Amino acid sequence: KVTKTDKQVQSVCPYCGVGCQVNLKVNDNKICSVEGANGPSNQGRLCVKGRFGFDYITSEQRLTEPLIRKEGIEKGVNIDPANPYSHFRKASWEEALNLAAKGFSDIKQQHGADSLAGFGSAKCSNEEAYIFQKLIRAGFGTNNVDHCTRLCHASSVAALMETIGSGAVTAPFMAAEDSDLIIIIGANPSENHPVAATFFKQAVERGTELVVMDPRAQALKQQATHMLQFTPSTDVALLNAIMHVIVDEKLYNQHYIDQHTSGFKLFATHLKDYAPEKMQSICGVTADTIKTVARKYATAKSAIIFWGMGISQHTHGTDNARCLISLALMCGHIGRPGTGLHPLRGQNNVQGASDAALIPMFYPDYKPISDCETQTFFESLWDTPLNPKEGLTVVEIMHAIHRNSIKSMYIMGENPAMSDPNLNHARAALAKLEHLVVQDIFLTETAMFADVVLPATAWPEKNGTVTNSNRQVQMGRQAVEPPGNAKADWWITHQIAQRLGLEWPYSTPKDIYHEMLLAMPSLANISWERLEQEHSVTYPCPSPKEAGHDIVFADGFPTEDGRGKFIPASFLPANDKLDTEYDFILTTGRLLEHWHTGAITRRSEVLNTLEPEAFVQMSPTDCSALKVQAGDMVCVSSRRGSINIKVRVDHKVQTGLIFIPFAYVEAAANLLTSHDLDPFGKIPEYKFSAVNVEPI
Ligand code: SF4
Repeated sequence: KVTKTDKQVQSVCPYCGVGCQVNLKVNDNKICSVEGANGPSNQGRLCVKGRFGFDYITSEQRLTEPLIRKEGIEKGVNIDPANPYSHFRKASWEEALNLAAKGFSDIKQQHGADSLAGFGSAKCSNEEAYIFQKLIRAGFGTNNVDHCTRLCHASSVAALMETIGSGAVTAPFMAAEDSDLIIIIGANPSENHPVAATFFKQAVERGTELVVMDPRAQALKQQATHMLQFTPSTDVALLNAIMHVIVDEKLYNQHYIDQHTSGFKLFATHLKDYAPEKMQSICGVTADTIKTVARKYATAKSAIIFWGMGISQHTHGTDNARCLISLALMCGHIGRPGTGLHPLRGQNNVQGASDAALIPMFYPDYKPISDCETQTFFESLWDTPLNPKEGLTVVEIMHAIHRNSIKSMYIMGENPAMSDPNLNHARAALAKLEHLVVQDIFLTETAMFADVVLPATAWPEKNGTVTNSNRQVQMGRQAVEPPGNAKADWWITHQIAQRLGLEWPYSTPKDIYHEMLLAMPSLANISWERLEQEHSVTYPCPSPKEAGHDIVFADGFPTEDGRGKFIPASFLPANDKLDTEYDFILTTGRLLEHWHTGAITRRSEVLNTLEPEAFVQMSPTDCSALKVQAGDMVCVSSRRGSINIKVRVDHKVQTGLIFIPFAYVEAAANLLTSHDLDPFGKIPEYKFSAVNVEPI
């Protein structure tokens, strides 16, 4: 219970997958300042978001009472978030929860369980993710449940599960300090995982070589031995060419391949078509550079690969990740200090929310929905029959709404009206729903489509665990009381479950965590009490008294035969085609100061003051050709939509490429992107859209 005296509360930064631990300094129920705590992933360090991005919780725009849409008001992104009462009326919790639950049960009765769907959130705790997916499965009776992992690393997880049997990282990012060589590809850690970037810089200072590969340049270029600014969407051509060199020059680790892998011979044959001399014109990197990088990676004593959404957010994202995994397998750079595969997770709890099964094809701990024994186990644990049919993913759910097969949704903490691709399509779907319940801390662009809005607590206003990119389960603690009548997400979900006839015995997040320990072997030996004491424990953990394993898979993989599989990937061009009208490539992403759709950081005074307005990064050459200067407005249009936006001239983007952050509603980048999906991970294409740029 919070008392109104000066105090310090140790918790976790709510922003990114690094999972920095923080000391929140509290006075009179207000966070006054934040300092870095000595957590395993940050060792006292914080970036600008962790240090200054906490004031959003006292924003005047916080939702403090449940809201119900007024009769006859049209749905859409047209409400002033500071004044929602022209479209909604205040309601009591009792009325709002009853209306929310009645809508779900009426639609289920009329159209069947699969006419319902839910998006949970990686911004919430593990317990909130678990209880949310349990409600969708046990209460709604469908597996139509997903979250933002579908928009960030779903393709990486698909490739990792298929090849090495586990979707989590094989080593923490601190392992880079023991590496001879670090590869960072399709990631910009200085902006998106800033504290992780400090470990990479430290390693370079001690003599580690750094290779950065990305179509855009970035701050870490200064530390890099090699910066490969390859042609957008040619990852497979570049990576296959690197592996071609390793095979051609017999630089692979035959002993490791024999001991721990399968399928190498066939894979090596597949690479024959990918000679660097042939690939250089496709990927825009010279054959000599490709050979140098290949030799350095293969001959390093220890080398580690980090990747981000530049790899995963493509219609060929799973193929990109397959290539990286094969590269590590052929050189045996897994399972030893300084080696590994690490997809850098975006949101603070995307690892934990995925582990807890906010995914349509898995029960907790990635147990397949299609497995009968698993279904029986969860039917017994949850005391209810379960639907054996796999559910739909984020973008598939939007299509299903347009087809009239999904009629109602429960959205907790996600903002698809900004984060989904092809926003005109996504927003039209949200508007079409017969019944939409949104639970959030602000009247987000998605909440503007809701029939019922439920006010939730912010991260420093509740207790709960989160799991970061390094597989470290960490304890988040309540520091302040929530405003008005806002309630914790787990409490709200529990209330809806009760109204759907489910009797769940939870009084606190700890009760939910205890059930998770029964459902998730990955959490073995990591009790709530231990987390309260130690703040952070890595899984897998061998005993209640020992530390967890930072580096895994020294002796093989959790696959059927214990071996890692080589899966060949062929180069395919991007789906969206350039032509004379759409002759620029658009890539989208985040900024250091703004997190995802901007719902939180744009309400943080310091962060929004640093980056207050939308911009498009363009190369000096393209700006001269179009006769535009920094600060001029241009119209950027694609085959799906258009936005007007201010120009920022930047040498980091190559000619013909533009970059737009997706945090700004007034120039929403995702009005331009395509909803084409990777066929395996079902992730949309955010990194390659054909667009036109015209001065206004
Ligand atoms: Fe927070 Fe990530 Fe910055 Fe750490 S690096 S302070 S977790 S945003």
